[in-house]
Parts: sequence; C-alpha cells; structure tokens
Amino acid sequence: TVTVGVLALQGDVREHVHALASTGVTAVPVRRERELDTVDALVIPGGESTTMDKLLRAFDLFEPVRARLRDGMPAYGSCAGMILLADRVLGGIEGQQTLGGVDVTVRRNAFGRQVESFETDLVIDGLQAAAEQPLHAVFIRAPWVEEVGPDATVLARVESGPAAGRIVAVRQGPLLVTSFHPEVTGDTRVHQLFVEIVRDSL
Ligand code: GLN
Repeated sequence: TVTVGVLALQGDVREHVHALASTGVTAVPVRRERELDTVDALVIPGGESTTMDKLLRAFDLFEPVRARLRDGMPAYGSCAGMILLADRVLGGIEGQQTLGGVDVTVRRNAFGRQVESFETDLVIDGLQAAAEQPLHAVFIRAPWVEEVGPDATVLARVESGPAAGRIVAVRQGPLLVTSFHPEVTGDTRVHQLFVEIVRDSL
C-alpha cells in the first residue's frame, strides 16, 4: 500500500490527512526524519512559508526533505507549500529559503493585501471531469506563479476577475503545486490527481 506523509510542523495538516485517506492511501503526519523515511510521498500544507522554513530547520528536516526531493520523491504543496517547493520567491522575508524543485517563480501574498481570501471555480488539467465540473478553489493570502521554466507545466489559471490569467496550479514531473487549498472544500480530486502521480512513480 502507498503511504503519503503530510508535513506536520504547522498549518492545516488534519484536513490533508483526511482528504488523502479518502483516496485509499495510508496518510500519516511527518514531524521527524524517521517518519519521513517511511513515506512514499509528501504533502506540504498551507500555513506560513516563513514559519515552516524555520521549523524545517529547527526539526532537522530541511536537508532530509530536500534529499528525498532530489531522489524523486513525489510532493504536493498547497499555498505555503507551493512557496516551499518553488525554486524562486518574490516578496519573501529576508533570509527566507525554499526546498525548491519546481522551476517557477512565485509571488507571496500576491492577490493583494486587502483581499485576504477569495474563491473561484477553476478548470484544472488532469483532474477528473475537469471541464464539466470545475473545481471550487479557495485562496487564503495565496501566492501566484509569475514565471514558469521549460520543464514545468501550467495546469490552471484564474479565469475571471482582477487576477484573470494568473497561474495557480503547476506540475513538474512528480511535483504538484497549487496556490489554493483543496483540502477545505470536500472535493478530493486534487488529492486523487496527486495520488495517481505517486502511484505512477512507484
Ligand atoms: N501567505 C502565506 C505564506 O506566505 C501562505 C498562506 C497560506 O498558506 N494559506 O506562506
């Protein structure tokens, strides 16, 4: 059976564990290196990327997670998790580092300070029934993707409103990142897509 870890240093861990478990995989929180060693893949939840960056170091997980990513471990990052998996960050704090892996430049808190959160329907390439049933996406102080390198593929853009055209979902090999929080809506298709990526990688 497939085991997917959820980085459990901060953020909405439990919701991801539930969403993953509903797809039929074993989902476990990861707080220590020995827990990381037991998982086939890792979800990095939303939260606060600067705090998670510091906690990854404090828990001696930064280099071990990086090493697993270099070895091809599939990973899915949502919101702050997207920032952590991005190679480059705009609007970060001084000294903020990322794990990297996805050849994109993301902008933190990109949707505007006054707009703490917004919701919109998205058509996401690769999702089951993507066109017939758009995904209701919830953005909370979210980043967007400003530049995409040649090896990364855009899966979704905002369709309307002031942020129309902005890139909010990207895949690069076994790495998936989204600006939004699919774990809060009860629609588990993004988690299903990630689990398919994990199964294909094994
Ligand atoms: N603004 C947060 C950050 O920069 C991300 C917000 C979120 O994950 N909901 O890390």
